[in-house]
Amino acid sequence: MEIKSNKQYHPQMHSAEHILNQTMIRMFNCGRSFSNHIEKKKSKCDYHFGRNLNQSEIAELENTVNEVIKNNLEVAEEFYLREEAEEKFNLSKLSDDAGDKIRIIRIGDYDTCPCSGLHVSHTNEIGIFKIISTSFDDGVLRIRFKLLES
Ligand SMILES: [Zn+2]
Repeated sequence: MEIKSNKQYHPQMHSAEHILNQTMIRMFNCGRSFSNHIEKKKSKCDYHFGRNLNQSEIAELENTVNEVIKNNLEVAEEFYLREEAEEKFNLSKLSDDAGDKIRIIRIGDYDTCPCSGLHVSHTNEIGIFKIISTSFDDGVLRIRFKLLES
């Protein structure tokens, strides 16, 4: 399987995206972000959603992501045969040419997600997760975030 490695790619940001997605699922029962732009300085993730978030939700989201980061969970890769992976995980985002061996990224017992990207090896390498702003337009919630050095 091909591993993404263009120079814009940022393993800390991308690993934070995994944790943010799982936290969104746990808090709001929504899906993972359907579109995102991940860069070193700041990133954004878009979710199919019904409204904007309020200040207390933003604070809770931020706190929860930072708790997961501070718990220093191991980020591990696991490989599954496609049939097995289809039973256990949501592969809808995976391209059809991903092959028969599916790479799953597991963040402790918090999140699992099929992914071919680059990640940190432990969550405390991510730094401090900070939401810059959120906005809502036409069924899409956009969350903009950055990372601060811890
Ligand atoms: Zn990933």
